[in-house]
Amino acid sequence: MKYIGHGNKEIVERVLSPIEAKEKIKKIKELKEVVISSRIARECIDIAYGFFTPLEGFMGKEDVNQVCKKMALKDGTLWSIPITFDIAQKEIKEKSIKEGDTILLRYQDSPFAFFEIEEIFKYSKEEIAQNILGTTDTKHPGVKMLDGFKDTFLGGTITLINTPQFNPPFDKFWFTPRRLRKKFSQKGWKRIVAHQTRNVPHTGHEWLMKGAWFSANGDLPVEKLQTGILVSCIIGPKRVGDYIDEAILLCQHKLHQEGYFRDDIHMVSFVLWDMRYAGPKEAILHAIIRSNLGCTHHMFGRDHAGVGSYYDPYDAHRIFDQIPLSSLNIKPIRILEWWYCPICQEVTYSGLCGHIEHQQKFSGTMIRSIIQDKVQPNRLLMRPEVFEKVMEAAEYYGFGSPFCSKEYLAQRQPVFVLLPL
Ligand SMILES: [Zn+2]
Repeated sequence: MKYIGHGNKEIVERVLSPIEAKEKIKKIKELKEVVISSRIARECIDIAYGFFTPLEGFMGKEDVNQVCKKMALKDGTLWSIPITFDIAQKEIKEKSIKEGDTILLRYQDSPFAFFEIEEIFKYSKEEIAQNILGTTDTKHPGVKMLDGFKDTFLGGTITLINTPQFNPPFDKFWFTPRRLRKKFSQKGWKRIVAHQTRNVPHTGHEWLMKGAWFSANGDLPVEKLQTGILVSCIIGPKRVGDYIDEAILLCQHKLHQEGYFRDDIHMVSFVLWDMRYAGPKEAILHAIIRSNLGCTHHMFGRDHAGVGSYYDPYDAHRIFDQIPLSSLNIKPIRILEWWYCPICQEVTYSGLCGHIEHQQKFSGTMIRSIIQDKVQPNRLLMRPEVFEKVMEAAEYYGFGSPFCSKEYLAQRQPVFVLLPL
């Protein structure tokens, strides 16, 4: 089946079987090996399975430059964040890595991917930070990440040779773009609205999704529902105090298990991605990834992918006015806040409810502090079954806490493992 992704290119899939991989390794004279970081491993998976279609590898200098200056690849395709492979000049020299080499990338002590190097180049990290994040302030987590990059970049194509084995509960939610599109067509979904999250759902999130569903469903008939919601969780590096990944996935899934959504209009999967917190630029990238997943609509709430006060809360809405409609195969659904109104006596939408002076905003921080004390929040804030699941995940995966602790970060089971080739 041919699946068309971003840039009107067929969904990329660059994965070799272990037999093909071993054959190829035998043929390479003087195999050079490079051990990669977990971020680069995640991005190799994204490239190889087409989450980043049309990219077939890590960017060369002209692509990075155009993404910084024009928010596009060198062929003009819309793209908003450079996808780069950083390495120390010292390592390049020691291993005498040259343009034209095919090197073996290793991860978790196993062969992981082939990297055909087309280009070795330097690019100013400050320039990337200024153009993409709008700041070079090292307090910004995206700047901090860039700061940690090594001094040189390699551009070229990636081919995965070792299929990641996802541990439970991740295995149940792992869908490549091709598998996801197949799933959507089995479900008969014509329109799919993506909800990006790194949270355990409170009712504010639930209503956000419900509002977006109406917006996406629009003029479609409702006797037979053809619109679905894809909860697309971001799985990447964790910090102390974040919700544990397992709780996020299982609690989002709980919403349709318990009927808060019909199970034929709601599903959960995840994308491996290290957030840059690039606000508007990151919103564009999220839209590109979800269009590759087969989604037709993407929700953008308040301060999407923002951090601190680096961006206006609605910058991530406005950036979609600055790009030609034809540059993206997915429509943004722009959403204000949902809040609880004691006059309406229900969760309501800030774009509808007129009792502004009575609004009670959903505070993620407040809900977290309630959960931290293991007290069940009011069901108007969080569904009791979701709370129960949070506590269960805390016991089972989180060493007693639904939030990442030092113990969890050091001892958690990895999201995926690699088997020996
Ligand atoms: Zn009201």
